[in-house]
Amino acid sequence: MSYQKELNTSQRILMGPGPSDVHPRVLKAMATPLIGHLDPEFVTVMDDIKAMAQLAFQTQNHLTFVVSAPGSAGMETCLVNLLEPGDEALICIHGVFGGRMADIAERCGAKVSRVEAPWGEPIDPEQVKRALENSRPKLVAIVHAETSTGVLQPLEEIGRMAKDAGALFVVDAVTSYCGAEVKVDEWGIDAIYSGTQKCLSAPPGLSPVSFSERAVEALEQRRTKVQSWFLDLSLVKSYWAGAKRAYHHTAPVSSMFALREAYRLVLEEGLENRFARHRRNHELLKTELEAMGFEFLVKPGYRLPMLNAVVIPPGVDDAATRKQLLDGYNIEIGGGLGKFAGKIWRIGLMGQSSTANHVHMLSSALREMLKA
Ligand SMILES: *Cc1c(COP(=O)(O)O)cnc(C)c1O
Repeated sequence: MSYQKELNTSQRILMGPGPSDVHPRVLKAMATPLIGHLDPEFVTVMDDIKAMAQLAFQTQNHLTFVVSAPGSAGMETCLVNLLEPGDEALICIHGVFGGRMADIAERCGAKVSRVEAPWGEPIDPEQVKRALENSRPKLVAIVHAETSTGVLQPLEEIGRMAKDAGALFVVDAVTSYCGAEVKVDEWGIDAIYSGTQKCLSAPPGLSPVSFSERAVEALEQRRTKVQSWFLDLSLVKSYWAGAKRAYHHTAPVSSMFALREAYRLVLEEGLENRFARHRRNHELLKTELEAMGFEFLVKPGYRLPMLNAVVIPPGVDDAATRKQLLDGYNIEIGGGLGKFAGKIWRIGLMGQSSTANHVHMLSSALREMLKA
């Protein structure tokens, strides 16, 4: 009976859309003996994490913390707290995750209007401008790094438009955070969420978030209760940011230990160096893959360095090739999502997985397989 055997998974090389490879120091931190979630020593760990989350978000926002659940819960935290039934929300959609934001906003009872771009292209700020001429939404939401398409969405201009229209600017930085520039204060972002398993290279299951003063004011002006108890910021706040830490839920202590170490690695390297490393390894992968005849989906200038969307060449079997990569080489890459299923591969070079060695392992494996 297999459940009686000790768990012994393969040593995978994680080059998909997340999770990414994790540094041994992070794994070691996760094995730290457990302490209570209200232990003064754990409170210090939370303070450390908050301070490092602020540095990585390049923000002074007081309300910066980590949701005890994955990126999608960070998304939900931003939207359920900022939207009340009847509010208007303008959601920009250029892939799966923009669509998920619109779905959540609708579940909040918001009146959702959409600005859409074809998958594989960024949102055109002109479209947002036009949409804002005809409406006064409470928030404008957009995905910075659309992991389903490989597009890096420029944010500054759209952020300015949102601000001029009196709307809050909400950003999904799950994939970009700690892998590319995300300047929360300078870019006027009011609410932002991320995840731990992408360029931060910590185990999945946590979501760093940050809220501006304007967002906090919007929270304080709510007329109705947030429909989610767990994600209601007015309650979570006193656990993460209150003078006296009150029990809200039992924090995932071991995952927080791991996250603290992952943040230390990010800051030891330095944000600029880390972003440069992600760009460098993306360029190396591009050179290798183009030499084999692969084409990138996204036009130059809008490509994500940490998530490379490449078109599957004609005659290559998507599922069989990815299975062979996993079984024969222990390499995981991502398939296409939604309308790109079977059409593209998504090759992640995130955090600890963004190394020249990863690029060479994958390109050698592909070269060998495609020759055969
Ligand atoms: C991965 C991802 C999410 C969801 O994160 P989970 O941790 O899987 O819930 C949301 N947005 C983007 C852009 C992502 O890449």
